[in-house]
Amino acid sequence: MYLTSCLYVKMHATYKTIISYFCPISMQISNSEKLFEKAKQLFPGGVNSPVRAFKSVGGTPLFIKKGKGAHIWDADGNEFVDFCCSWGPLILGHANAKVLSAVNETMQNGTSFGAPTELENQLAELILQNNRFIQKIRFVSSGTEAVMSAIRLARGFSKKNKIIKFEGCYHGHSDALLVKAGSGLVTFGNSSSAGVPESIVAETISIPLNNKEAVIQAFAQNKNNVACVIIEPIPANNGLLLQDQSFLEFLRDLCNKEGSLLIFDEVISGFRVGFTGAAGLYNIQPDICTYGKIIGGGFPVGAYGASKEIMACVSPEGAVYQAGTLSGNPVAMAAGIAQLSECLKPDFYQTLAKKTTYLLDGIRAVNPLPFMKLFQMGSIFWIAFTEKDKIQSAEDIDADSMKYYRGLYHRLLENGVYLGPSGYEVGFVGEAHTYEDLDKTIQAFKISLTSLV
Ligand SMILES: *Cc1c(COP(=O)(O)O)cnc(C)c1O
Repeated sequence: MYLTSCLYVKMHATYKTIISYFCPISMQISNSEKLFEKAKQLFPGGVNSPVRAFKSVGGTPLFIKKGKGAHIWDADGNEFVDFCCSWGPLILGHANAKVLSAVNETMQNGTSFGAPTELENQLAELILQNNRFIQKIRFVSSGTEAVMSAIRLARGFSKKNKIIKFEGCYHGHSDALLVKAGSGLVTFGNSSSAGVPESIVAETISIPLNNKEAVIQAFAQNKNNVACVIIEPIPANNGLLLQDQSFLEFLRDLCNKEGSLLIFDEVISGFRVGFTGAAGLYNIQPDICTYGKIIGGGFPVGAYGASKEIMACVSPEGAVYQAGTLSGNPVAMAAGIAQLSECLKPDFYQTLAKKTTYLLDGIRAVNPLPFMKLFQMGSIFWIAFTEKDKIQSAEDIDADSMKYYRGLYHRLLENGVYLGPSGYEVGFVGEAHTYEDLDKTIQAFKISLTSLV
């Protein structure tokens, strides 16, 4: 059995129409195929998180058996340089020796107590002593939980109800945040999932990114009832939609003026673009920050943090209830401590950004497609097929252009490079990627892109 990817790629109208057939792709994936057949009987769509199902690139998802450093191996023994990195958490790469030894050592003394442990103090101190934007923190078990709790905290603190979010930002799958924009600029939203009641949708206003006018209108239509504005300050879940610094500053000023809280959802950007995330990069003080992904060293950890005053509202100190059986889990804390300690070493982030620039410049140099663009922020990158030089909102992305990614995706797999299986996803460079890995990746892009033309 072969991974077959029969599709033709039709260039943008402005370019000459070239058709390329490439099937079958000669890579053995029969074990993944068998495992996926089984998984489909066990899980909805065969997966435990939707994007893993390869729906947007087509074909069979690869079942991963092993990872070491920047490399992963699938169930058929195919090896890839990995730029998905578990969707961001693995900034040190797979099976990092320091993380593994911390986890091993901690596990020997038990895996969970439901009582406080010193490891929670240690991870919290490591973070708080190196992050001037938050004074207290609460650990939870996922990014979704962190954001959901932050929203409740914002409502509890402000005693207001509405939340303003942006189209093209992802904040996890809690009800209040599965809301997309309606037809007008600031009309009532629609839920982006079945099962979210209208009454909940009505409390969320979803507006375009990088659009000051829309924010002003949303505040005007919900006078004195906006609890918070939540944004991914570096939106990286729907392409990489880099915002103008002035837009983020505008949100800060407006929230101050209106008595609303500004939440930076730094589940991706936190500990990724710098230890203090986007808040540090742009030097903007949010009222609440949410974290996830990197914070747990590859284990399920999320967190939210704020000033002492705001955090005093959280139970048992305050009236905003939030709890978790496995919150602050010692094994996960140990992994987080080991990983974040590495991130604090001098030049850690500069080195990652430099490697990422090297990779992208290398790809640009071999890229024959004038409308393939590469966007970068630190060690985050995004491949887009567009004529535009800047993409700052979800509306700027041409859904039809995703067919190019689909074509490229399978050629890259065949040439030993694993990216997130959707053109809306970003890629991550980590400490484990060597220049040899990057050169190999550039070569793989060269072969793959050339074969598309
Ligand atoms: C991944 C992500 C989430 C959700 O985190 P989970 O751990 O998947 O629940 C929330 N916000 C942002 C910005 C994310 O990137």
